[in-house]
Amino acid sequence: MKLILLGPPGAGKGTQAKRLQQKYGIIQISTGDMLRAEVAAGTPIGKEAKAIMEAGKLVSDDILVRMLGIRLDQPDAANGFILDGFPRTVPQAQALDRMLAKKGLHLDAVIELKVDTATLTERIAGRFSCAKCGAGYHDSFKPTAKSGVCDVCGSTEFVHRADDKRETVAARLEAYHQQTAPIIPHYAATGALRTVDGMADIASVAAEIDALLAAAQA
Ligand code: AMP
Repeated sequence: MKLILLGPPGAGKGTQAKRLQQKYGIIQISTGDMLRAEVAAGTPIGKEAKAIMEAGKLVSDDILVRMLGIRLDQPDAANGFILDGFPRTVPQAQALDRMLAKKGLHLDAVIELKVDTATLTERIAGRFSCAKCGAGYHDSFKPTAKSGVCDVCGSTEFVHRADDKRETVAARLEAYHQQTAPIIPHYAATGALRTVDGMADIASVAAEIDALLAAAQA
């Protein structure tokens, strides 16, 4: 199964991608996670990307297309993948079309998660994750069972993404509306686009996605 999860920051792409990864045994490819790893490792790409990411802007198409091309060539992608955070611009969508055509692959579905802007800001501003195992939480919607302790691994250290500050969220939403939303008609035209109500709770969004994937495979 080859999927794209589309939607603004905070729409729930990462949450659903992690679940789909387990359910279908396919890999999640999060370009945001890949870039954060480059920043943490202090690579040349990381050095170039850091300030751009902290400003809530998009890193250059050249870097992203190259990074994704390398990732899709790895053997574990042959089974299928969920793209989370890519493509984010029309040139990235066009480059992906070319990469897939070259490999003789087609997308099973492009799932757009729709969420209103006020909800996104609230969702992003409250989120944090375990510094050790990466489990995701939210101050209001998904707190840890015991205050200050990770439910999954028991760690007491947590991190907030540098770009999850309220000031940066506005820039990220602007980048989504200006640069990413224009790719929606591209996928509507191919017939692959499916739109899901991302305002619903996690389990309901999951059920809706599972139903549409079952229909896409039938
Ligand atoms: P994410 O974790 O998907 O929210 O991505 C975090 C940040 O990484 C974004 O705000 C961008 O600065 C950068 N980024 C991730 N994916 C892309 C992409 N496909 N194109 C450009 N920038 C990206």
